[in-house]
Amino acid sequence: MGEFELIRRYFAAAPCAQAAEGVALGIGDDCALLDLPPGEQLAVSTDTLVAGVHFPDACEAFLLGQRALAVSASDLAAMGATPLAFTLALTLPCADEDWLRGFADGLALMAAACGLALVGGDTTRGPLSLTLSVFGRVPRGQALTRSGARPGDLLCVGGSLGDAAGALPLVLRERRAAARIARPLLERYWAPQPQLALGQALRGSATAALDVSDGLLADCGHIARASGVALLVERERLPLSAPLLALLGREAAQACALGGGDDYRLAFTLPPSLLPAFQRDWPELAVIGRVEAGAGVQLLDAQGLSLDLPAGGYQHFGATHD
Ligand code: ADP
Ligand code: MG
Repeated sequence: MGEFELIRRYFAAAPCAQAAEGVALGIGDDCALLDLPPGEQLAVSTDTLVAGVHFPDACEAFLLGQRALAVSASDLAAMGATPLAFTLALTLPCADEDWLRGFADGLALMAAACGLALVGGDTTRGPLSLTLSVFGRVPRGQALTRSGARPGDLLCVGGSLGDAAGALPLVLRERRAAARIARPLLERYWAPQPQLALGQALRGSATAALDVSDGLLADCGHIARASGVALLVERERLPLSAPLLALLGREAAQACALGGGDDYRLAFTLPPSLLPAFQRDWPELAVIGRVEAGAGVQLLDAQGLSLDLPAGGYQHFGATHD
């Protein structure tokens, strides 16, 4: 099977590559063409996943397809953008048809869940890696950025934290657990659900937002720096799922929530008066702290006393973390 037959069979013919709203021209030409309604801006994000770094070398292609797109779509959620389209640059060691079928199916499932159309890409031979770019639309000036948090705002997250980090030893088969514990945690690792509806609802309300991908404390540091404020995180208010607590106990579960990556939950700052409306519509939303004047991130215990920050946040080049 040549490159063009591969593209046609597994990608151009995929359900997610068919005609879609906002896509004037899809796969097959030199560029795709996207339509943007008047008064809207294009939100763009790219993520690369490399075998052995971002996912285990031996993993199910279906799960990888699902997860790769979820990771990218989560960036659109974090900006409050409405998903439009994505491109896929795929580097493959060989054209294994079972692998391609599984991967394309996983991709199509997540694309349908997110409302994203596949509009192009590139296909090359080499060690397995994926680069996805996602495109979304957002009313001009209304995107959620990291830079607007103000003293007095609440710090909130869109749901339980630490599940994916807790699942990692299960993913890597370094550890086993009963199915009722392992299944929901593995689901959170392999098929995180980008919080797209929450992100869009937060437009005009949240003062800053991002998706938690590097670990809560590290990501809070990004908001603190961009906004020029201090973020206070209360350890006892971290939302922890029942399976994570059952697997690890409270202390280790808290450590996963604070330092583990891959949650893809939204973390955002919100003026307190706006909280009740969001709590009504998003029961999983949790207030985990607040914004104060100052700089950096502080972790507080149940008494409000400052705790030492664990080292955390994955960085590809060097281990320094401030
Ligand atoms: P070009 O040489 O003009 O860059 P290619 O031969 O790489 O075009 O690709 C042909 C068409 O197939 C283009 O529209 C491209 O966007 C699309 N394409 C290539 N690889 C993929 C892929 N993995 N997924 C989706 N579309 C792809
Ligand atoms: Mg090309």
